[in-house]
Amino acid sequence: MVKAKIAVNGYGTIGKRVADAVQAQDDMEVIGISKTKPNYEAAVAHKLGYDIYAPAANLGAFEKAGMPAAGTIEEMVEKADLVVDCTPGGVGEGNKSLYEKAGVKAIWQGGEDHSLAGFSFNAICNYEQAVGRDLVRVVSCNTTALCRAIYPIDKELGVKKVRVILARRATDPNDVKKGPINAIVPDPIKLPSHHGPDVKSVLPQINITSAALKIPTTLMHVHTVNMEVDKDCTVDDVNNIFGSQSRIRFVGQGMSSTAEIMEFARDMKRPRNDMWENCIWPESITVGDKEIYFFQAVHQESIVVPENVDAIRAMMELESDGAKSIEKTNKAIGLYNK
Ligand code: NAD
Repeated sequence: MVKAKIAVNGYGTIGKRVADAVQAQDDMEVIGISKTKPNYEAAVAHKLGYDIYAPAANLGAFEKAGMPAAGTIEEMVEKADLVVDCTPGGVGEGNKSLYEKAGVKAIWQGGEDHSLAGFSFNAICNYEQAVGRDLVRVVSCNTTALCRAIYPIDKELGVKKVRVILARRATDPNDVKKGPINAIVPDPIKLPSHHGPDVKSVLPQINITSAALKIPTTLMHVHTVNMEVDKDCTVDDVNNIFGSQSRIRFVGQGMSSTAEIMEFARDMKRPRNDMWENCIWPESITVGDKEIYFFQAVHQESIVVPENVDAIRAMMELESDGAKSIEKTNKAIGLYNK
């Protein structure tokens, strides 16, 4: 089988994970990753055997550091069928003309606006609508988790409205610059936060609003979700709906916090401690008067990774059935190793 040629532009928190997840599939391959500087992450990429591409002005620095680049970022883009842009939020927008000029398909991440690609993706919600598309945005970690939880409930019970409070990790574990380290920051102070409205870029029919707080942790986000539904239901009904979703995991067995969930991911020997699934505490699921409440934890560094693989498969027309792609992606990355 001829594999789809994928380039990963921006090899940071999301990019390095997407590269490894793509490489684990049998219908796509990474033809190159880009790094701006020959730092420790570039050294690991080199060791893993990825071809590294760099800005023309920095090629000499890579040569000097003993990890010669395979070419410029422009040359990498030319060789690809599809570029997954994992540059920092707001930077990816500037790459659109580069991708258009090279005639390659492109995926951006949730840090970019919906309007950049004109289509926002979540695998269970709208895979089929992404088939054959040239430009797609994979929504953010928080939006991905909300879409995964809301969509199946809406399908079975009809969602009237959703209200979410997000406790957001301040920054990622490798980030030495950002805070807070001793404060809780309403972010933004003016409601709603962008998270609820962003769900509508995937599920426009959902009445949803959100508020968010930034808290001094790097591990995961936690959502307090309240959904009002059309049909009477029980805790068991909600359990069954969430239990049918491969990318939702119930957390228990003494896991009472995000710290223990991350320890569990380490113990399972997941790559980089990744927890690709929404983590829902079953004890938190509370139902009454057609209202559902629950807590879910979201591993911001990895939850969007399987969605990127599915988006590639849809756009490259490697699989027309979303459920089959989800299954294939999950299997290849090891999500079923519970
Ligand atoms: P990051 O800062 O960890 O990684 C970005 C990488 O891109 C870095 O290696 C940086 O050196 C590189 N880069 C910067 N400018 C570049 C350029 N012009 N060309 C090529 N490479 C360049 O960022 P991240 O956290 O991986 O975020 C990437 C995207 O994913 C953003 O849109 C972000 O909003 C989104 N996202 C992040 C998270 C998260 O929690 N980290 C979760 C979901 C989605």
